[in-house]
Amino acid sequence: MAVKKLSKSQLEYYLQILQEERDRVIKSVNGISETIKMGTKELSGDASSFPLHLADLATDNENLDMNISFLNRELEKLKVINQAINRIHEKSYGICEICGEYIPEGRLRILPYASQCVICRSREEKKQRKVHNFREIE
Ligand SMILES: [Zn+2]
Repeated sequence: MAVKKLSKSQLEYYLQILQEERDRVIKSVNGISETIKMGTKELSGDASSFPLHLADLATDNENLDMNISFLNRELEKLKVINQAINRIHEKSYGICEICGEYIPEGRLRILPYASQCVICRSREEKKQRKVHNFREIE
């Protein structure tokens, strides 16, 4: 199966997709940061504003935790998107960073910020899962 190098118009297409995705993630990061800020203010507000029931407080904390882990995931995604955009500019986009083979376009269509081919990716995932609970971002 011959995997071809991406053409200039294909690169432009992916650049556009990545930039749109980056804008979306930035908006989402800003939104969630606001929510966290508001939530933290409520939690650390004066004693009279504290929820009366411990259960309520626990729910608030759970939401905060959820928002923070969501924020971290989005920030991680933003980093990966920015790296992919850099690779387009450096003309290394679409090439697996581990084995140096071209990443099939079918994979880029699903995951425009993929930096590894499927084989290397699953190998890496297996490695990382052994070390610690790797957060899945794809
Ligand atoms: Zn590879």
